[in-house]
Amino acid sequence: MKLLHLVLIIMLCCCPAMAQNDNGYKSDIIKGKTGDIKLTFIGHATLMIEHKGNVIHVDPWTKLADYAKLPQADMLLLTHEHQDHFDTAAIEQVKKVGTTVIYTEVIGEQRDDGKVFKNGDSVEIDNVLIEAVPAYNLVHKRETGEPYHPKGRGNGYILTIDGKRIYIAGDTENVPELKELKNIDVAFLPMNLPYTMTPEMVADLAKAIKPGILYPYHFGETDTNLIVELMKGNPEIEVRIRKLS
Ligand code: ZN
Ligand code: ZN
Repeated sequence: MKLLHLVLIIMLCCCPAMAQNDNGYKSDIIKGKTGDIKLTFIGHATLMIEHKGNVIHVDPWTKLADYAKLPQADMLLLTHEHQDHFDTAAIEQVKKVGTTVIYTEVIGEQRDDGKVFKNGDSVEIDNVLIEAVPAYNLVHKRETGEPYHPKGRGNGYILTIDGKRIYIAGDTENVPELKELKNIDVAFLPMNLPYTMTPEMVADLAKAIKPGILYPYHFGETDTNLIVELMKGNPEIEVRIRKLS
């Protein structure tokens, strides 16, 4: 009997909120004030967030998913125009009548089905507050000297859903404005090189904004053990490694 209890306790501790979706992707459940917020990890920088029937897609990419098999978007967020974040085929599949589409100025030059958001813009729709924050490189640059992501061009987004603040960083480094972000419950921070952050930069940003949960995402070939190791002295920040290469 005691052994059975022990096995049950171990099972509960090891997989607190991870679930396999019907569609084959892994999800975590975050508890909102009044209901569950489901975070589904499509891969790379591509996420789906659901709360009380409201579906939010972030940077959908047909390379990673058959969107015909996933729920369509009530809200669609695009961080910037690079091909791993901006895929018109995916947009056409996830969009339905009435989808709120939010994107950057550069994407707005190619489309007219959404709202252009600059860094600092915000809106509240269906009880979800969306804030656009900067996403750019200071250190990592092309051979021409141009940053991979110039300042002011891309957006990260902070979504406030049912009392939880979820920060999806887009392609960025640990720039000063981001270190000022407050009250972040969940942070998705990019960690592939040379385009975004080293594990040390991710750790630096995470220690500044102190999210309850840190998901390294968009990590490509980077060894995720490095960020786990770097965050060992900060047990208040739970590092969750999911399939987001
Ligand atoms: Zn990019
Ligand atoms: Zn990218």
